[in-house]
Amino acid sequence: MTPTDEPQAPAPASGKSDFIRDIVNDHLKNGRFDRVLTRFPPEPNGYLHIGHAKSICLNFGVARDYHGKTNLRFDDTNPLKESQEYIDSIKTDIRWLGFDWEEREFYASDYFQQLYDWAVVLIKAGKAFVDDSTADQIREMRGTLTEPGKPSPWRDRSVEENLDLFERMKAGEFPDGSKVLRAKIDMASPNINLRDPVMVRILHAPHPHAGDQWCIYPMYDWAHGQSDSLEGITHSICTLEFEDHRPLYEWYIDQLGIHKPQQIEFARLNLTYTVMSKRRLLALVQEKLVRGWDDPRMPTLSGMRRRGYTPEAIRAFAEKVGVAKNDSVVDFSLLAFCLREDLNKRAPRRMAVLRPLKVTLENFPEGQVEELDCQNNPEDPSAGTRKVPFSKVLYIEQEDFREDPPKQFFRLAPGREVRLRYAYFVTCREVVKNAAGEVVELKCTYDPATRGGDAPDGRKVKATLHWVSAAHAFDAEVRLYDHLFTKSDPDDAEEGRDWRSNLNPASLEMLKGCKLEPALKDLRQAGERVQFERMGYFVTDPDTTPGAPVFNRTVTLKDTWAKIEKKAGAGSR
Ligand code: ATP
Ligand code: MG
Repeated sequence: MTPTDEPQAPAPASGKSDFIRDIVNDHLKNGRFDRVLTRFPPEPNGYLHIGHAKSICLNFGVARDYHGKTNLRFDDTNPLKESQEYIDSIKTDIRWLGFDWEEREFYASDYFQQLYDWAVVLIKAGKAFVDDSTADQIREMRGTLTEPGKPSPWRDRSVEENLDLFERMKAGEFPDGSKVLRAKIDMASPNINLRDPVMVRILHAPHPHAGDQWCIYPMYDWAHGQSDSLEGITHSICTLEFEDHRPLYEWYIDQLGIHKPQQIEFARLNLTYTVMSKRRLLALVQEKLVRGWDDPRMPTLSGMRRRGYTPEAIRAFAEKVGVAKNDSVVDFSLLAFCLREDLNKRAPRRMAVLRPLKVTLENFPEGQVEELDCQNNPEDPSAGTRKVPFSKVLYIEQEDFREDPPKQFFRLAPGREVRLRYAYFVTCREVVKNAAGEVVELKCTYDPATRGGDAPDGRKVKATLHWVSAAHAFDAEVRLYDHLFTKSDPDDAEEGRDWRSNLNPASLEMLKGCKLEPALKDLRQAGERVQFERMGYFVTDPDTTPGAPVFNRTVTLKDTWAKIEKKAGAGSR
């Protein structure tokens, strides 16, 4: 073969390069595979989370790069924890994320008969046996990392006896836990996964997909690789904790002499301030520590969707994080960054005052209303402008006024002049307080010469505030969210306490009586995104009813003041 005859390593269509695509390139070059078929294999025992999104983007992304396909396969081997609700939610979430498995929707439970037949093949070959040991006994005999295991007393049953018992397990003759089928591999293997792993267990329980056909169920390792093989998967991409399972994955396939995919492990996504294990997410839901799987504080895709995340932002995040072989924790702010980048382009700007403070313009004519032109999106001139009414009585944010302003606070204060966005310069003349000494109103004057622009005399102001006209605003509920956990590592708990002790009591703040500009009345459906100027990106929540909108804050804009205050250790507003 001359050098020019050598097959070229195909480059992935995306031009991306990482260790997984390197492996795929090699396989296509050396002829191990001539096509790419990946799969996303969720167990339907919970809702998908942002970590799954990474796996979905990776599996679908690699396949797309090589003009291959991706199967959706439910690895539904544990009927006690699985349900149709989870199956449905998983399909909804993958579609929402923007991926299509076309007609390739598979269930490991559809392969139970094949798995049974293959188990019989292994029994006949003397590679599997029925064990009467209890789960505890099996655990005790397994040994440790430093000590070999002990063979089960039932390990040397005859093939005939094993076949008979296995058939009777399937026929339902034995109670749960009384027998298992185990592979006969090597109780002294340094890899504990190879110490006669359990293949099949008895479980008298109906199955959400297979119904009540079965009372024996395959263990994950036994089901997973054989399912990959049956589907002709080429690259079985999974997370690092399965690295030690790869020898078992390959052992089963080698014993059966069937199609062998390549298992490739990558580091799972971990995020600061976030728990990602399905067990914990389930605990949050069941213990009512959140409002459900789709609580906007949850890292589930349904929660993130409700919170206002876009599929584009999540895909961009997955892209940025990339794939690695070492576990690491990604900073949550990277996710927020990707989200802001996307929302900045698409979210129309509106004005809303979340914690209203009344402002009366003493020199503005009573009853007069001016319609001011406001841009819908400064990032996108094609989004046009809208008219926003301006009148004598307005609302501004309480936090935009300080009676006794600290040094770097440039917003409104007694005697100070600021700009009202798209409107006029105003100066605070008088502070009105209630009996409790709280500021309830500011009496201001405006400069008619500054309409929509600068002062003709060139004088400057250091702050621009948003506002709404009191007579034209309407009320809405707005929900503000913070991290669900106070610690960047939720596991960092005091002795004797667990991750729950790090739940953030202030992760949800519900504000009623927020004042919104009239154009927002048009938002009636859930899932509509806007930017409230200076306050962040928001989305209408499904709790919205006609005339009573509810907004979730998706993410704040960059709050420079909060940073300054934090740095100075100045504490609360
Ligand atoms: P369990 O704890 O129930 O095993 P799981 O999170 O591993 O949960 P699966 O339904 O088995 O859930 O996951 C489906 C796929 O998603 C698997 O291939 C798994 O490796 C991958 N996956 C799960 N969590 C993450 C994560 N944090 N980062 C990347 N991929 C993940
Ligand atoms: Mg798993």
